[in-house]
Amino acid sequence: MAIHHPLSTAHTLHDLPFAALVREMGDLSPVHARALWRVLYREGATELNQRADFLPPLRRWLDATADRLPVDVPELAADTASSDGLTRKFLLKLADTQTIETVLMSYSGRYTACVSTQAGCAMGCVFCATGQMGFTRHLRPGEIVAQVLHAQRTLHARGEPGLRNLVLMGMGEPLHNYDSVMTALEIISDRSGLNIGPSRITISTVGVVPGILRLAEEQRPYHLAVSLHGATEEDRSALVPASKRWSLAELIAACRTYGAKTGRRIFFEWTLIAGKNDSPAQAATLAKLLNGIDAHVNLIPLNPTGGFAGTASASAAATEFQRILKAANIPSTIRQRRGIDVAAGCGQLRVEKGS
Ligand code: SAH
Ligand code: SF4
Repeated sequence: MAIHHPLSTAHTLHDLPFAALVREMGDLSPVHARALWRVLYREGATELNQRADFLPPLRRWLDATADRLPVDVPELAADTASSDGLTRKFLLKLADTQTIETVLMSYSGRYTACVSTQAGCAMGCVFCATGQMGFTRHLRPGEIVAQVLHAQRTLHARGEPGLRNLVLMGMGEPLHNYDSVMTALEIISDRSGLNIGPSRITISTVGVVPGILRLAEEQRPYHLAVSLHGATEEDRSALVPASKRWSLAELIAACRTYGAKTGRRIFFEWTLIAGKNDSPAQAATLAKLLNGIDAHVNLIPLNPTGGFAGTASASAAATEFQRILKAANIPSTIRQRRGIDVAAGCGQLRVEKGS
């Protein structure tokens, strides 16, 4: 009998892109991989035992590998809905008891899932609840995929259409966990599975310069959002400690390279904090900084967190900020604060639940 050599470093079935699953199955016909893939990702099954629709070779393979490659099905530790019904937030407990947040948002009848990429975060942005808790560990691809499946199952259970968009704006810094994130996105965008196409996926980064350059080099087809929050080295490093490691000058140079290599528009996130980064002069500095970049700015009023004394900008300040950007031909959107009553800011539910 052949000795079994595991072909990948996967810990669960949900860690495996389709081609890797086929390799794991060795001599089995790809028919079985396709059947399993459909059940995992079209149906979102959580249990693979005793399925009458699986042929005997697949059932035998699953029995033999169940211990080595189980499924990723996190436990639901908390589930809250905002009073307007448009935001639902899940706290999911992983096998090692770490908890992560997944948010489901509805925009005019279309659903977006916001998923986490790490338990905690090492970047320490001062206004962010996740940054305030520090870094625990990276998530595996399967733990990222499982959040999307959880959101999808929730929608299907309510008879709703499936997810339309995915944003990597939950807990953690996606480009600090690059390989796992790329594997997860390959699984999530697979057409015979979850089928959330790359043009409906946005990666948000605090500005990990090597990661941005790698995305461009590898021609990854996803949207990119860069969290800026300050348009001078001094303003930015007061809010985003990571900018001491990758300076604003380096970050903007990387964005220009990314734009030139990919031809893609970049989204810039700007959390509006009263008296910190919302003055007309700061808007003008931002407009100058982005000159020549195909950019869209998302202005997001701060969600207050326990570890930071700042408050959200007044709406008049936000409107004036936007007007100055517009005068410089920079498009922007002022984002509504979604589900503030379910602590929809990144990391805030986990803090509230004290886990
Ligand atoms: N680490 C990545 C993605 C997760 S954070 C990043 O920083 O981009 C997703 C977005 O939420 C970022 O733009 C971040 O700055 C913003 N954010 C975090 N805490 C916030 C808060 N309390 N209020 C408003 N926006 C916040
Ligand atoms: Fe990490 Fe993003 Fe929060 Fe900054 S804003 S601490 S990078 S999750």
